[in-house]
Amino acid sequence: MARIVKKFGGTSVGDMDRIRNVAKRVAKSVEDGNEVAVVVSAMSGVTNQLIGYCQDAATFHDAREYDAVVAAGEQITAGLLAIALQDLGVPARSFMGWQIPLRTDGIHGAARIEEIAPDALEACFKEGRVAVVAGFQGIAGDNRITTLGRGGSDTSAVALAASVSADRCDIYTDVDGVYTTDPRIVPKARKLDKITFEEMLEMASLGAKVLQTRSVALAMKYGVRTQVLSSFEDLPGTLVVGEEEIVEQEVVSGIAYSRGEAKVTIVGLEDSPGKVSGVFSPLAKHNVNVDMIVQSASEDGTATDVTFTVPEDDLQKTVKVLEDNRGSLGFKDLVYNGNVVKVSVVGLGMRSHAGVASKMFDTLADKGINIQVISTSEIKVSVVIDAEYSELAVRALHTAYGLDRQD
Ligand code: ASP
Ligand code: MG
Repeated sequence: MARIVKKFGGTSVGDMDRIRNVAKRVAKSVEDGNEVAVVVSAMSGVTNQLIGYCQDAATFHDAREYDAVVAAGEQITAGLLAIALQDLGVPARSFMGWQIPLRTDGIHGAARIEEIAPDALEACFKEGRVAVVAGFQGIAGDNRITTLGRGGSDTSAVALAASVSADRCDIYTDVDGVYTTDPRIVPKARKLDKITFEEMLEMASLGAKVLQTRSVALAMKYGVRTQVLSSFEDLPGTLVVGEEEIVEQEVVSGIAYSRGEAKVTIVGLEDSPGKVSGVFSPLAKHNVNVDMIVQSASEDGTATDVTFTVPEDDLQKTVKVLEDNRGSLGFKDLVYNGNVVKVSVVGLGMRSHAGVASKMFDTLADKGINIQVISTSEIKVSVVIDAEYSELAVRALHTAYGLDRQD
């Protein structure tokens, strides 16, 4: 017997037939003797539709009312799934975020969870009743409904699992697990049986959109064993777990890429204390999310070049902020371009293996791909390259690190 929190995403509850299908899966798990709680997303497309209504109502609208509107999607699914479970003879009831309560801060539209009372779920486990919790929503200190940001029901599920010390959090979605890379680009991509929290966090934040990044960070913090699996077939998925559960650590576990990046180089920035801070503080104030930063060594101690990446959507704003500060910064030139991608190799095993980065550079050189920026962390090496070469690069790296499926 295990205690499991199961989360079903939008496509898994996309219509009444699918909701009935979910109910059957939940019923089966209950019959097997497990303690089960369920977290649901809105039916696919519903959240977008609700956001559309808010925008239609007024371009600039009260974020608290936005939350009241968009939280409704999950409310509907939770009620419908509870009905479908009851129809199968499984005792069940729905819970909205406030009924748990799942307490958050007051940042409407992007709230963070502060505290979850385990009592409601514990009581349901004890009574043999399935709690069906509306994901994505909570309640702020002033008693108003909040939502956790797009994709937030993953985070609800992991947080609820942590609050009742569940043995596992199963995230059911429309893919059957986490792959070594995007299978749409590399047909030989392999489904991973297991991946560590650290690696999954890198893969998620680098563009592998299977799980909301925040949910992975939370799972890592509380050690919640999390499984990503398909709601459409009855197969084990990928387990995201602590390092100690992985016996034979691969050197490289996956290749991630993220499109929609832009690169900016400030040429000839004076080499003195405060200049770099003069670049990045105004950008931070304007909410520009700067990613890779590289400063070149100064040749003669007078000036350096600073290169960094930002989301392509923020490029115009970035250039404007820098130009506005040009007077005080006193750089020679500003060079920028969109249309670059960041490709990364990720693997915990590179902590103890040399040569991972050089293999990456060799592989890209062989294909004639120019590297524009490099950055590394303990478990990843990232490069920025021309977007035109992204697929070629991902495929070549996938093969070079021996990740291709053999069959
Ligand atoms: N329904 C919300 C969204 O689409 C939350 C979720 O599905 O995780 O962002
Ligand atoms: Mg999702």
